[in-house]
Amino acid sequence: MENWKPRTKLVHAGAKRSQFGELSEAMFLTQGFVYDSPEQAEARFIENQPDEYIYGRYGNPTVRMFEERMMALEGAEDAFGTATGMAAVSGTLFSLLSAGDHIVSSKALFGSCLFVIDDILRRWGVEVTLVDGTDLSAWQSAMQPNTKVCFCEAISNPTLEVTDIAGIAKIAHDAGALLVVDNVFATPVHQRTLELGADIVVYSATKHIDGQGRCLGGVVLGTEEFIQETFIPFNKHTGPSMSPFNAWVMLKGLETLSLRCDAQADTAVKIVDALRGHDKIGRILYPTDADHPNHELARRQMTRGGTVIAFEVKGGKEAAFRALNALNIVILSNNLGDAKSLATHPVTTTHKNLSPEARAAAGITDGLIRLSVGLEDSDDLIADILGALNTA
Ligand SMILES: *Cc1c(COP(=O)(O)O)cnc(C)c1O
Repeated sequence: MENWKPRTKLVHAGAKRSQFGELSEAMFLTQGFVYDSPEQAEARFIENQPDEYIYGRYGNPTVRMFEERMMALEGAEDAFGTATGMAAVSGTLFSLLSAGDHIVSSKALFGSCLFVIDDILRRWGVEVTLVDGTDLSAWQSAMQPNTKVCFCEAISNPTLEVTDIAGIAKIAHDAGALLVVDNVFATPVHQRTLELGADIVVYSATKHIDGQGRCLGGVVLGTEEFIQETFIPFNKHTGPSMSPFNAWVMLKGLETLSLRCDAQADTAVKIVDALRGHDKIGRILYPTDADHPNHELARRQMTRGGTVIAFEVKGGKEAAFRALNALNIVILSNNLGDAKSLATHPVTTTHKNLSPEARAAAGITDGLIRLSVGLEDSDDLIADILGALNTA
């Protein structure tokens, strides 16, 4: 299996069949597991063997199939499926950090990640330094003797800044810290984040992995030592486990993940080309596009630019709202990675809690629209967006 290409792994890796030989992965909707004898129960509580389960909060065969498929795709030794992406992020940070430790994080973060780091971790006595994630010298000068963790999103939301994973990994490792990367925007198929040097990769499976708007989920990937000795002891007792139903949906999502992400990235490039130079549009941001400030880094560390675009409508909030109101195919939603194209206005939704100064510093302007490109026909999407811009 190790030599399989990603598309083969996405269809077959981790699949285990019961005695009935089912074609599709079985959904084990069970809370607990039974034993043939007290001796077997006793052994199971001691041994912790693969394919031997005790209780759904600790593990489940359908969830394990999902974890093993993700491990094969990502090239990770071990993984743990979680109820949501935020359970993956918070469970990772809470299990790694104790009072008195220090974390360095990029400040351009998904809102809930920023809250976990900047509010909860501080309340629990963890020292926090937030840096400009694209500035390696800022990471370097933030390191302290008690720095345990560096955290970043590979591609930031919503301005799609690209962080230098190999560069940050080196700084972290030289200081004895681990690098944790939230890889949602880069997608599991467009970036080999562990190979770039990250120690732990987390996903919201809610996004591309489901990709069809159905279930919440998350996954944490890393060494067997981290998952077994740090993540699981904390998280099996605090309880953010993935539901087997959701794991089954995610397994089905993984089968088409690379087809969907590639098709969505193809369309994203076509939309960027169609919008370039449009008189109603200011900046257009797409990581691997030649006009993106970090495109050389993006091209070095990603095979494709992902499935999300951001662009600025000239005329601020009013013009952006006129354009959003005139869309027929693209739906208004702050989700992303979906088969349906979704547009959001970050200033009034996902990033409304940032101060105006912080928004300005992050380049989140009043006219900025984030577009998660879906699986619709690219000509239809371009016609929809250009038509909407004419009303802006
Ligand atoms: C959505 C998202 C999360 C949180 O995932 P949930 O499944 O909603 O909990 C974390 N990080 C990033 C970058 C996201 O896009």
